[in-house]
Amino acid sequence: MSSETTIVSPVSYVQDQQLALIGLNSVPVNALSKAVRVGVIESVNKALADQNVKAIVLHSHLPLFSAGADISEFSSTDLSPVLPEVLDLIEQSTKPVIAIVGGNAFGGGLELALSCHYRVTHAKNKVGLPEVHLGILPGAGGTQRLPRLADAITALDMIVTGAPTPVTKLNGVFDLIVDSAEELQVAAMEFANTVVEKQLPVKKVCDIKLEMNSDTQALFEQYAQGVAAKARGFFAPGQCVLAVQAAYTHDFKDGLKRESELFIECMDTPQARAQQHFFFAERAASHVQGIAKDVKTRDIKQVAVIGAGTMGGGIAMNFANVGIPVVMLELKQDALDKGLALIRRNYENSAKKGKLSTEQVEERMSLLTGTTNYDDLSNADLVIEAVFEKMSVKKEVFGMLDKVCKAGAILASNTSTLDLNEIASSVSRPQDVIGLHFFSPANVMKLLEIVRGEKTADDVIKTAMVLAKTIRKVGVLVGVCFGFVGNRMIEPYGRESNRLMLEGASPEQVDRVIGEFGFPMGPFTMGDMAGLDIGFFVRESRRELIAHDPSYCIVADKLVAQGRVGLKAGKGAYLYEAGSRKPIPDPEVIEIAKQEAKRLGIKQREISDQEILERCIFPLINEGADILKEGIAAKSSDIDVIYVYGYGFPVYRGGPMQYADELGLAYIRDRMNFYKESLGDYGQHWFTPSTLLDELAESGKTFSSVKK
Ligand code: NAD
Repeated sequence: MSSETTIVSPVSYVQDQQLALIGLNSVPVNALSKAVRVGVIESVNKALADQNVKAIVLHSHLPLFSAGADISEFSSTDLSPVLPEVLDLIEQSTKPVIAIVGGNAFGGGLELALSCHYRVTHAKNKVGLPEVHLGILPGAGGTQRLPRLADAITALDMIVTGAPTPVTKLNGVFDLIVDSAEELQVAAMEFANTVVEKQLPVKKVCDIKLEMNSDTQALFEQYAQGVAAKARGFFAPGQCVLAVQAAYTHDFKDGLKRESELFIECMDTPQARAQQHFFFAERAASHVQGIAKDVKTRDIKQVAVIGAGTMGGGIAMNFANVGIPVVMLELKQDALDKGLALIRRNYENSAKKGKLSTEQVEERMSLLTGTTNYDDLSNADLVIEAVFEKMSVKKEVFGMLDKVCKAGAILASNTSTLDLNEIASSVSRPQDVIGLHFFSPANVMKLLEIVRGEKTADDVIKTAMVLAKTIRKVGVLVGVCFGFVGNRMIEPYGRESNRLMLEGASPEQVDRVIGEFGFPMGPFTMGDMAGLDIGFFVRESRRELIAHDPSYCIVADKLVAQGRVGLKAGKGAYLYEAGSRKPIPDPEVIEIAKQEAKRLGIKQREISDQEILERCIFPLINEGADILKEGIAAKSSDIDVIYVYGYGFPVYRGGPMQYADELGLAYIRDRMNFYKESLGDYGQHWFTPSTLLDELAESGKTFSSVKK
């Protein structure tokens, strides 16, 4: 067996008779850091120099083969040896190199395996090239080697979508796929010994020749068109297509050069910076400052949801989906029956689409029980209230919960706007009260705003943050204020879009501009889908705060007064044909805006796309600045996570605060001041830059530099 053991940390080197075993051993995910790259180079060189070694086996000591590049090195300048050098050394090795891909190989990890001469794995494994999610493309030969082993379409799909792909779908990439992980080690060693004994050739992927013919040419053209439509706004997917195409039009060496050029073009873009920012932002959201590490979470084994309406049903599904039983409470049996029937319909629709089996539907439904009796909540570890958005109703419910819930139960509210501290004041245990603000549809949307009240206990916050992960959401901790982070910032966006209509823009112009910016839909389409009555009721609850602006959402108010409450009424800011969700522009709405503008003495004019964009987005950012200043969000990246996951802010802009940092805060401040001056009283009311924006702009700093 092994004659010599040397650990070149974090890479191990063991000689096993005629095989040199090089083991990746860099916790937690075998990121290909400088130390790993150096370790692999030293180990390969050692094996090459040893006459007794006939073949090299590259494997992992961890469950993962490798998660790829060490992205904490992205901003480093000390990168030598770079990964392509390592891969070139392996590929050019005169002794066969066999990769045992025992677990996931992603990004540079898969590129490493592709540079080897043979690859073995097991059937349950998945591999992928996810660089596109960071706004870049695989830059260590992945775009050149993968199509040489798999076919063009497989390589394109993997590289353009970045999706993890089952190895069984990758014909040609692996030389041996055993059934299970348990068999792999023995089978792989047998395979490696066979390579030696039969003197199998050093199979270099770079030697495989690809040629472009009329079929592949057509395929690339068609694929590029599809990408332009599907990945609208994103830069990297198109670059990925060009890189794979280069594998067919260039020899390997020139193909690598082309890949590198395309990679650099991606790297040096606001999009790549935005997507990499977002990658870290999402991970940073779960790190809450100020809560001691040893704080224990509370067990959540039984959940109760109060209110089986739009939100209650969706919220309950999240828990049933992960096997946690839920009791749903309504005041009346028929409301309860309706709520449960809707959940069943949702699950059955998923089953029809093949996403769930009928057994899974029944399994999940069996976890959901209904009651009209508060006594049935005595076992709940967590109760989430989702009743009408009215303080008196919420207080009544919390009063009941205080009576029936066991000690230590977490009492949560899904309120969108109400003061959580006031809700908490209605119970004898305010430390157990927290806001869990789900977004609609609650079973689909990834965001969970976790609202920390003045008295919320640390272990309740920690439990909520962990719970978000359990139900596959991204939890972001926020403080108490009207609308919390997301809805507070959307308010000026909605206000401006409405005001622009009064000033002469049409709903379709505003929606087009916002759509081109990258939101999945503009504010008028969104308003119609949500129901214009929702915004109306919110305005009704705070009329005194907006009374100084008679133009405030006045067209929306008029539409609601005429029963034009949106899609559900067949008309709102747009018209809808029966059964269709397609917005149809309505001259009547333009006429209402014209009449209201006349009444209010607002002169209508042609409005540029730039003005529309700036007036919708910059006040939203300005509100974000206030939120940051007040500490309602702990860091600007938390706001970005909320906006990308809760409101469809384009991820390739990184979120509103990253977008502002990229544009430059002085520019945003100056444009705010421009509108403040040019829009008369209206501008004076609404366009004063936040003091934080002013300070940061003055000192040339960014929002991301603000740490609480
Ligand atoms: P909804 O009207 O669809 O559902 C409310 C349900 O609560 C109804 O079924 C009603 O019968 C029930 N209910 C009312 N009073 C009750 C009581 N005292 N005890 C038990 N059940 C009672 O409303 P919704 O849209 O699901 O909103 C619920 C909460 O979620 C509100 O606080 C709302 O602000 C918040 N929210 C809504 C959305 C959204 O997009 N709809 C998004 C986030 C948060």
